Amino acid sequence: MRIVLVGPPGAGKGTQAAYLAKNLSIPHISTGDLFRANISQGTDLGKQARAFMDAGRLVPDEVTIGMAKDRMSQSDAVNGFLLDGFPRNVGQAEALDVILKDEGVKLDAVLDLEVPEDEVVKRIAGRRICRNDSAHVFHVTYNPPKAEGVCDACGGELYQRDDDSEETVRTRLEVYHTETEPIIDYYRAQGLVVTISALGKVTEVTERAMEALKSDQG
Ligand SMILES: [Zn+2]
Repeated sequence: MRIVLVGPPGAGKGTQAAYLAKNLSIPHISTGDLFRANISQGTDLGKQARAFMDAGRLVPDEVTIGMAKDRMSQSDAVNGFLLDGFPRNVGQAEALDVILKDEGVKLDAVLDLEVPEDEVVKRIAGRRICRNDSAHVFHVTYNPPKAEGVCDACGGELYQRDDDSEETVRTRLEVYHTETEPIIDYYRAQGLVVTISALGKVTEVTERAMEALKSDQG
């Protein structure tokens, strides 16, 4: 299956992508991993991306599209893949259509993870990270530490990352609405969009997604 996963920040997209890819036996292709791999391997595209990032500028679509195209042409992606973070705007979605058309293949579904905006803010803004180890993650409501502001695992101080502040979350949501959400309409016109609720436990959301993809195929 060839799937595009979309959803606002805080929808648990990365986590779901990993589970779904495993269940469907297809590679999980995330933009974050594409950038890391190309930069660490020193590919031409990686060097270009690096130069823009070092200059504090956005990496142009052509670079991202090039990385995604290279990755999709690798042998493990012949029978399908799950894209996470790409395409992130209509221009990239159009470029993806061209790439797939050249290969004589099509997307099977665009899985849209839906989560109410206030819930997104609550999920992200409530996150607290340990200063000693970023893997020690808590949440003021969903997974509170025994003592406020103190890590259960090592006693370290818990803090809120700048990226997780309510103001930053609202800004990221705004960017999602204006840049990424239009791709849902773009794909809806192609009859590809499958929308599911991203509320509930991680395993419940994965099951919901698998069911939705199955009935979409049927
Ligand atoms: Zn800790």
